[in-house]
Amino acid sequence: MRGWIRIALVAGVVVVLGGGVAGLWLSRVIGYEPVAGQATFQIEGVVGPDTGAQCPVDKRYVDEQPTGLRDDVLAAYTSLRAKATAEKVTMCLQDGKRSSRQQQAQFDDYVKRFGSRELARNYALPPEESNHVKGVAVDIQPLSAAGWVERSAGKYGWCRRYENEPWHFEYSPDYAKGCPTLLPHA
Ligand SMILES: [Zn+2]
Repeated sequence: MRGWIRIALVAGVVVVLGGGVAGLWLSRVIGYEPVAGQATFQIEGVVGPDTGAQCPVDKRYVDEQPTGLRDDVLAAYTSLRAKATAEKVTMCLQDGKRSSRQQQAQFDDYVKRFGSRELARNYALPPEESNHVKGVAVDIQPLSAAGWVERSAGKYGWCRRYENEPWHFEYSPDYAKGCPTLLPHA
C-alpha cells in the first residue's frame, strides 16, 4: 500500500472513532441517546393518561396516575401529595400531562362548545401555550384539596395561576419564594 493511502486510512479511522466518542459524551451531557431515524425526545409528544380511578372522596372526579410529567415536576407532585396525606387531605389528580394531540382535541372540543377560539381560550389553551403539554401543570380536585394546595402559597413549589381555575396548579422551583399574582384566566 502506498504511504499516503495508509496515512489517509489511519486519519479516517481516527476521525470516525473520535466522532463516536464525542457523540457518546454529548449524549451523556444532553441526557438522551440519539438514535438514527428516530425523533429526538420532546416532552410535548409525551402522552398522559386519559382517565384514572374514581376519586375516593368525590365521585365526580378521577384520580389519574401522574405519569408523563417532567421528572422534577413528578417528584414535586409526589412530595406534595405525601404532605397532603400527612395532613389528612385526600388529593385527586383530575388531569396532569397531556400531549400536544390530547390538548388539541380538548381545545377543538371547547371551540365547538363555546363557538370561538377566543371564548375557548378562557378554558383551555392551544397546545403550544399549554403548561399541561409542557408537563408542569396539574388539575387538583376536589376543591377542598385544591384549597389546601393554594394555602401552601408556593412552599412546595406549587402555585394556583388563574382566577377562574381554582383547581389548576403549576410547578416551578421559583415559586418556593412565593406565588405570582393570579391572572384572570388562561
Ligand atoms: Zn389545568
